[in-house]
Amino acid sequence: VTRTLRDLGEFEVIRRLLAVTPAPSLRGPTAAGSESAADAIVVGAGDDAAILRLRGGHELVATTDTLLEAAHFRRDWIDAATLGARLAETNSSDLAAMAAEPRWALVSFGVRADHPVDDLLEIQNGLVGALAHHGAVVAGGNLTAVTGEEWMTMTLLGEIQAGRAWTRSGARPGDLLAVTGHPGRAGVGCALALELGAAAHEARWADLIEAWRAPRARVGLALALARTGAVTAAIDLSDGMSSDLEHLCEASGVGARLEAAAWPADTALESAAAALSRPADALRLGASDDYELILAIDPPGRAACERVAAQLGVPLAFLGAFTDAPDRLEWIGRDGSLRTIEPSGYDHFAGGAASG
Ligand SMILES: [Mg+2]
Repeated sequence: VTRTLRDLGEFEVIRRLLAVTPAPSLRGPTAAGSESAADAIVVGAGDDAAILRLRGGHELVATTDTLLEAAHFRRDWIDAATLGARLAETNSSDLAAMAAEPRWALVSFGVRADHPVDDLLEIQNGLVGALAHHGAVVAGGNLTAVTGEEWMTMTLLGEIQAGRAWTRSGARPGDLLAVTGHPGRAGVGCALALELGAAAHEARWADLIEAWRAPRARVGLALALARTGAVTAAIDLSDGMSSDLEHLCEASGVGARLEAAAWPADTALESAAAALSRPADALRLGASDDYELILAIDPPGRAACERVAAQLGVPLAFLGAFTDAPDRLEWIGRDGSLRTIEPSGYDHFAGGAASG
């Protein structure tokens, strides 16, 4: 028998959600000698509000993100645990972009009365596990009944030593432009699923489908790179390379020049581009929620950053540099030709690709 929220009622469901949520005695990974996020919960879930103890000399870094059924996910495409993890990863990615350490999450579910309780518990399990990987815990939440599309919202609170956060506004002309992972893969994975259906699930495209379904925020890399002191600005890739880069350039008052030849080969993306009859470079730059990081790096710090990335096994590619031409994105093709790029990321309110 599948039991639903209607069968068990709000308070029993909350009791079960808390049962799969770690108590403050469980320790996550933290900076040496500092209190775990769980131990820093003075009052946790079960009271009217949570009380959280900040470390001395630290600032609170806060972000929130919502996943809405039909707009951000379809349940026939993603299992419950992966969906929960995705909510944690999208939020963690925003903290990674600030070089902040994820600590405490508040989670709200808008769910229908016919939602199976075990499925909701699996979503919670998925997000708890993903948070634990980044050293964070759930400190509270809320359950709301909906009749239409379901949604999940997480507010993630992090900490950083006062004055040390990265922002979008610190890039200077001459700083190097680097990116983690393989931008464009998530967008291509989504396009494969939409356009090819079951045929998209070929082994050669597995990494693309996973990049789209199950992104992993670059928290560990961000914290390690922050210690080099070489990063001058950052943004996470939630819309697509060209549009997120434009956001960073706009905030910093700079432009950027990307070199096609510097882009690492990606045979999976290239074979998918051929199957989709689209230029691979357009897919690299276009709408894609990869949750990778775009970084501005002080040139003398390049070697230190490369060392850190290699130690952690994260691809870090240097694609070009920032320029003194505000908001201008330039692309140097493999033949040496130069052209400007129009941002083409995802715009929720425009209902798809933005024109810029
Ligand atoms: Mg972001």
